[in-house]
Amino acid sequence: MTPRRLALLEEMGLTPVWRLRGTATPDEGGAAESAVAEAAGIETVERVAPPSAHPVAEMQWDALRAAITGCQACALGRSRKQAVPGVGPSEADWMIVGEAPGAEEDARGEPFVGQAGLLLDQMLAAIDLNRREHVYIANVLKCRPPGNRNPAPEEIEQCLPYLKRQIELVRPRLLIAMGRFAAQTLLNTDASIASLRGKRHDYHGVPLIVTYHPAYLLRNLPDKAKAWEDLCFARATMQALQSA
Ligand code: URA
Repeated sequence: MTPRRLALLEEMGLTPVWRLRGTATPDEGGAAESAVAEAAGIETVERVAPPSAHPVAEMQWDALRAAITGCQACALGRSRKQAVPGVGPSEADWMIVGEAPGAEEDARGEPFVGQAGLLLDQMLAAIDLNRREHVYIANVLKCRPPGNRNPAPEEIEQCLPYLKRQIELVRPRLLIAMGRFAAQTLLNTDASIASLRGKRHDYHGVPLIVTYHPAYLLRNLPDKAKAWEDLCFARATMQALQSA
């Protein structure tokens, strides 16, 4: 390509996404632009699609829900009864992220409906919140690991685009990560819950607070007091965000 033609491409705003013919397939929008280029006497170039994002990253709610409920990206898709996408208002101020569905969630298709869910509802009620009106609730994994074992790293990796997209669509003012897997996954860290509690973290611009998982609290009652501290911290953080 001559320098004059390159300059013309630049002038038309067609660089730097244009490459020599044969290096890529034109995408849909590229066809029209190719015609423009042909008309301009530039017959040796085609448009190259920008680096492709994960398809889930573009989905709206209906498509996202359908993708989650039909997902077969890992072996959990074969052992689950049903996938558990999430529950709550689609534009909630609060968003809670747990670990993975258990047996009851697997049977009912809704997160946190077993014993841990009852405790979560009580914790929310203590700060005047409920899942129907105020809080979107989702898990890191959308399918139940058999026997409620811990999520495997490759399962988290496959499932994470769904959670990321849910957070983007809900656009909560505040995220609460419940338990080690939610906290470590969203904050991309190996740090312990104990060291992550009591601080305001940041998930891509959304404030994030870490607390214990309700299932852990059912087994470790003394730590309920610490979870209450975390909820009070979360409520104060939300109040500060709302009055900012
Ligand atoms: N534990 C979780 O982390 N999520 C649920 O949905 C149920 C139990």
